[in-house]
Amino acid sequence: MPSPVLRFAPSPNGLLHLGHAYSALFTAVWAEALGGRFLLRIEDIDLTRSKPEFTAAIFEDLAWLGLAWEQPVLQQSTRFPVYAAAAGRLRARDLLYPCFCSRAELAATSGGTDPDGAPLYPGICRHLSEAEIRQRFAEGHQANWRLKTDEATALTGVLTYSVAGPTPADRPQIRYARPERWGDVVLQRKGTPTSYHLSVVVDDDAQGVTHVTRGRDMEPATDIHVLLQMLLGLSSPSYTFHKLILDAEGKKLSKSKGSTSLRSLREAGRTAAEIRQELGF
Ligand code: GLU
Repeated sequence: MPSPVLRFAPSPNGLLHLGHAYSALFTAVWAEALGGRFLLRIEDIDLTRSKPEFTAAIFEDLAWLGLAWEQPVLQQSTRFPVYAAAAGRLRARDLLYPCFCSRAELAATSGGTDPDGAPLYPGICRHLSEAEIRQRFAEGHQANWRLKTDEATALTGVLTYSVAGPTPADRPQIRYARPERWGDVVLQRKGTPTSYHLSVVVDDDAQGVTHVTRGRDMEPATDIHVLLQMLLGLSSPSYTFHKLILDAEGKKLSKSKGSTSLRSLREAGRTAAEIRQELGF
């Protein structure tokens, strides 16, 4: 058995809130219980939304909470060529195709939604000829590169993943992945050689991550992650999905809704010990 490696992997596109604090503490405590390593990874592939000041704030807030992580910290923005190479391997197997549809065109489609509630891609660009594709690129259009999910799953066959926790008393379970419910997901975004799904599986493998711990709301993404792990010959960690921290209305905290940040709690005089206790650590 490889020695356990766990990671907390925030995106520096805003200040961390109590939901992040819970996830980071959960991961660190789980790593300690397993006698494993705790890594921090900065998921900053979105160059327009990621800001260095938010990365600095992540370091500050996590240290304030009493967490310690290994150095150096991997920043995904330094690894675009690695992700492009992984996508290149899928392209070489004809498993990706360029999609030129605009957001407005996508919003106007009607064919069901994926687990995130986004419209399922109806495959419009999957039928473009080589000549049409060449012409669109020659005209300066950018493409999202989508996975031919049905062809990919036909290659891999039935996929499963193992779930442990969220408490040590929970029996480990094997669950089926259902990548088809995501349709043809984007693996390389317009102007970026990667996407969340692609970078996360490449880096979990590169960093030897054995246990992925993340919020319950992210379990559906595992469908795509295990599919990519199988296609790319990457390791498949065990998964633990923890509870979500909710606001007074029972909604998940989020940066975009401006949920109270750890920084503002600290500035209001709350101590790290109080926050840890409130979150059950
Ligand atoms: N970077 C992602 C986020 O901030 C999630 C990381 C993961 O667990 O894969 O929500």
